[in-house]
Amino acid sequence: MRTLSILGASGSIGGNAAEFLRYHPEEFRLEGIAVDQDWEAAARLAEEFGCVRAAVRNAEGARALKEAMPGLDVMSGDEGVSAVAGAGSDVVLAAISGSAGLPSVLAAIEAGSRVALANKEAVVCGGRQLLEMAQARGVEVYPVDSEHSAIYQCLLSGRLDELDSIVLTASGGPFRHATLEEMRAATPAQALAHPNWAMGKKNSLDSATLANKGLELIEACYLFDVPEDKVEVLVNPTSTFHSAVRFVDGSMIAQIGDPDMRVPIGYALGCAERRFSGVGSFDLTKPGTFDFWAPDPERFPSLGLARAALRQGQSETLLFNAANEMAGIAFMDGRIGFMDIPAMIAECLETGEGRFETDLDGVIEADREAKRFCEERVLAKAA
Ligand code: MG
Repeated sequence: MRTLSILGASGSIGGNAAEFLRYHPEEFRLEGIAVDQDWEAAARLAEEFGCVRAAVRNAEGARALKEAMPGLDVMSGDEGVSAVAGAGSDVVLAAISGSAGLPSVLAAIEAGSRVALANKEAVVCGGRQLLEMAQARGVEVYPVDSEHSAIYQCLLSGRLDELDSIVLTASGGPFRHATLEEMRAATPAQALAHPNWAMGKKNSLDSATLANKGLELIEACYLFDVPEDKVEVLVNPTSTFHSAVRFVDGSMIAQIGDPDMRVPIGYALGCAERRFSGVGSFDLTKPGTFDFWAPDPERFPSLGLARAALRQGQSETLLFNAANEMAGIAFMDGRIGFMDIPAMIAECLETGEGRFETDLDGVIEADREAKRFCEERVLAKAA
């Protein structure tokens, strides 16, 4: 029996994880959950799975949950979330999106829990330092992101020194066939309408700009310790070819399947063991599985910006993430246009170069400063 905690339990990753766990009540025990605001979702999960502790980031929500479930150990605020993360479960599923998830990932690693990592910003901001800390603590990190889970699985068929390169696939998002003009005029509703994956708002928007793929490129380079020119990004419009690796002998190993997050979530929660996930066996004759093209750099500049950030260093990858998050919020609020998002990232990378160098202890503060810095640039642009 493995004990689990889920951070971001009310989101789409949390929901898929709960579905996976329903198939395996004998093998996993969900003991802790953390949510941002949705205390009712937390109450349902705590009741169903018999959790012993929960955190609701929102204080009012925490009070409501405590009242509804007096037997449950309920905490609030960021400290509450980190307390659930650091309670020492065998595995912690870190699925809070954005760099808000970073402190809880650190808390889980510090407590020696294995981490099923769905929060890519933690790796993007914490970089190799975060993974070195995990290594030093003997903590294994299992990526939940479908592409990185695929790469992780593919890498198991060879040695790292036999690796030639990685193929990171992208769906291309809702604008993969749109013109530059259409993208300039895109509304938040259009940007959020992802064709293949049902995801949270931030991930959906990031998929529309391909900033998501930029973050994933950074994540892959840090997770698997490869330079950016060893990672090729290709659009696979069906999101069924989840990613692949090339080995020096000319072999390519790919992981293929229907786009359903229960597969990578189950694989990570099982610490690289495979269990029934509710997902059926894949039909190889499905059209589009082997369709690929390189993303257009003019319509999707975020990807090239992520490469430039990686070549410069961790201050820049942290800045890339901050600029993307701040510009994304401004776009959703109607303050800037869709194509202003990559333009803002470019500007922030240029003007903020080298400013946010830090060690792991300072990364949360550096992230906060970088966001302040980027928000100022975005405000100046929107004015
Ligand atoms: Mg992904």
